[in-house]
Amino acid sequence: NLNIENLSKKFGSQQVLSELNLRIKDKHSLVIIGPSGGGKSTLLKVVAGLVSPEDGRIEINGEKINFDEKYLNEYRKTIGVVFQAYNLFPHLSALENIILPLEKVHNLEKKEAYKRAENLLEQFKLTEHKNKKPNQLSGGQQQRVAIIRTLALDSKFLLLDEPTSALDPYLVSEVLDTIMDLRREGRDLILVTHQMSFAKAVGDYLIYVDKGKILEEGHPEEVLNNPKTEELKNFLSKTL
Ligand code: ATP
Ligand code: MG
Repeated sequence: NLNIENLSKKFGSQQVLSELNLRIKDKHSLVIIGPSGGGKSTLLKVVAGLVSPEDGRIEINGEKINFDEKYLNEYRKTIGVVFQAYNLFPHLSALENIILPLEKVHNLEKKEAYKRAENLLEQFKLTEHKNKKPNQLSGGQQQRVAIIRTLALDSKFLLLDEPTSALDPYLVSEVLDTIMDLRREGRDLILVTHQMSFAKAVGDYLIYVDKGKILEEGHPEEVLNNPKTEELKNFLSKTL
C-alpha cells in the first residue's frame, strides 16, 4: 500500500514534483513511465528517503516516512534501490561491491554474505567477471552487479530505476524473470521503465508522470491500450 499526498519538490526554482497524489491499495508492483525529465527518478528518490520533499506526506504499508535526518538512516536500510547510474564503488571488484553493504550496513557474517553474492552472480552469469572492477565491466554487466547488490540485501521493498536499460535482449528477459520471481516471493516493488511490454508484464498498477504530475494511472494494460490525455498519446506514439 502506498499513499502519497500533495508531494512537492523543487530543485532551485524548478518545480520537479508538483502536488502529486497517489493512493494504491492491495497492489504489489507499481510501474512509473513518462518522458525524460518528468520527475520519475526524483519520485523514487523521495520514496527511498534520499531526497526530502518541500511539502507533502508519504505512507508506505501504513507507515509514514519521517524526513528527519535521524530517522532516515534506519528507513533507508529497509529499502533496496537500483539507480540509473549504478553507483558501484570504482575501487572494489564486482564481488566486493555486493558483499560490502551486506557486511557493513546489514551486519551479515562474511560467510553468509559470500554465499548470497556467489549464488546471485551465478544466476546472472557473472561468476567469471566477479573479480573485475566496474571500469573493466561492460555497461550491462555493471547494471547486473548493481541489481545483484540490491537483491542480496533481501529488503522487502525494492525500487528499480530503469533496471534493464543497458542490457541486451537476452539479459532483459533474465532480469524480467528475476523481477517476476521477486514479486511472487512477495516483495513489493516500484519500477521505472521505458519498455511498455515490461510495464504490462510486471505492473499491478501504472502511473504516467509528466512535468511532476501524474497525468494518468490505473491498470497497465488499460492505461496503455487506451490513453486519454494528449501527453500520453504523444508519449506512446514515440516509444517502440
Ligand atoms: P529520465 O527519464 O531522463 O531519467 P526523470 O523523469 O527520471 O527523467 P528526474 O531525474 O526526476 O527525471 O529529473 C526531473 C527534473 O529535475 C529534471 O529536469 C532534472 O534536471 C531535475 N533534477 C533532478 N535532480 C536534480 C538535482 N539534484 N539538482 C537539480 N536538478 C535536478
Ligand atoms: Mg530518471
